[in-house]
Amino acid sequence: MQDTPLVHSLQHDCAACSGLCCVVLPFDAGQGFGFDKEAHMPCSHLQHDFGCGIHKDLEAQGFRGCIHYSCHGAGQRVTRLFGESSWRSNPARAAEIYAVFTRMQKLHELQQLLQVALATVSNELWQKRLQREQSRLEQLCQQVEVQNAVDVVAAAATIHTLLRQLATEPAIVALRSTQTTRG
Ligand code: SF4
Repeated sequence: MQDTPLVHSLQHDCAACSGLCCVVLPFDAGQGFGFDKEAHMPCSHLQHDFGCGIHKDLEAQGFRGCIHYSCHGAGQRVTRLFGESSWRSNPARAAEIYAVFTRMQKLHELQQLLQVALATVSNELWQKRLQREQSRLEQLCQQVEVQNAVDVVAAAATIHTLLRQLATEPAIVALRSTQTTRG
């Protein structure tokens, strides 16, 4: 197992995405979205070029949830993976695209958690442990790209257990108590 992780960008790039979060995810009007929307239905504000028709006005229109959401780079990765086939241009593949995105965004979210943890710890053993998990997650992402049969729930349980252990490390406890005192 390699120690240096092969990490795709965890920064979302909406310009390189086919609006996957605006289609795949459900909305709840009570949670920062202007209306309720079922999963796998395109938002009515999504434009033909996959841009948002109310991008400059999201807050005022009640879509704070869109401002704060990030797929952590899963959207552009899945869009690139399917090339010329988007959920719109090739509806026959839409269910497959949605399934891959759903798993990929969870795996990228876990990678983001590890990246934050890596930026926090200086202990070399923990750095290596976290990097090893990052490599494992990236391998799972690559599996999702070819067969989509990846247990993301098990992957999440592993990462959350690891981060809970990390949170009890004396250096992290001390850091948190400093932040709490400052706050
Ligand atoms: S309001 Fe805009 S950003 Fe939010 S889901 Fe709809 S199209 Fe996407």
